[in-house]
Amino acid sequence: MSASPAAQPSRKVLLAAPRGYCAGVDRAVIAVEKALEQYGAPVYVRHEIVHNKYVVKTLEKKGAIFVEETEEVPEGNIVIFSAHGVAPVVHEEAERGKLATIDATCPLVTKVHKEAVRFAKEDYDILLIGHEGHEEVIGTSGEAPEHIQLVDGPKDVANVEVRDPDKVVWLSQTTLSVDETMETVDALKGRFPNLLSPPSDDICYATQNRQQAVKQMGAQADLVIVVGSRNSSNSKRLVEVALGAGAKASYLVDYADEIEEAWLDGVATVGVTSGASVPEILVDGVLEWLAARGYEDVETVTAAEESIAFSLPKELRRDLRAEAARAVGES
Ligand code: SF4
Repeated sequence: MSASPAAQPSRKVLLAAPRGYCAGVDRAVIAVEKALEQYGAPVYVRHEIVHNKYVVKTLEKKGAIFVEETEEVPEGNIVIFSAHGVAPVVHEEAERGKLATIDATCPLVTKVHKEAVRFAKEDYDILLIGHEGHEEVIGTSGEAPEHIQLVDGPKDVANVEVRDPDKVVWLSQTTLSVDETMETVDALKGRFPNLLSPPSDDICYATQNRQQAVKQMGAQADLVIVVGSRNSSNSKRLVEVALGAGAKASYLVDYADEIEEAWLDGVATVGVTSGASVPEILVDGVLEWLAARGYEDVETVTAAEESIAFSLPKELRRDLRAEAARAVGES
């Protein structure tokens, strides 16, 4: 009697929910698209509107021009500020360059800016937990540079110096790891027991929900594939959270064709998720790639339902309303 073939481990995909676009990214991308429709190409965008290669390339094809600095925008043009927010000095630069601006800063980033302004007015030393060089941190710090110092994780806590240990508050970048941020806060509290916390969570709902879904999924997955770009803070955090939750391996990919066949060796369960700046079409590509290799069974792991939506930037709403009124008048 011949031996029966070795049973294949059953292959499946755990698909995290929520994943992908958050309300702030959705609004920022639509703002660029609507601006192109309303004013015509080119429309200038300061920094990548959101940290995703595919989104940036798609908008470039439609006529958006991405620049690093406001000075690169020719006088009299329109410039859109990205979802990550900008410092007040950037608004001043735009005014000097006679630029019309559309501010696509996520309202949840604006909330942190307002907190920074308020605590600076009250003369607090503000400890901003975040990643050095990230656009959001540069923007928030610019609201009150003389009051804010950056704390880039627990390793930085020993270097913090404040004027009055009883008048210190912490704020944070919106896209950090929830767990690592709490570690940093605990270490700061060890040094400054009267450290004040922000009035509400700075790490946004979308970051928290995507991390929670990965925690649930990562514990059951051999491999977790996170779709997202390398400069996307929240996407990179999802890789860390997956590994922390127990996944044996986790990788960040922009596109399905970056997945390596060898990653699947001995893997029965693959977790899939995407960062807050990632359109679903890229996740579909990964699911198709996996299905072609026997991972056709897809089970969704849901950590939260999301229904948040933000209205478009006010400058754009004003011009769209005026345009609509004109169209009605002409008809
Ligand atoms: S990740 Fe959060 S803070 Fe950033 S754009 Fe999305 S909702 Fe806004």
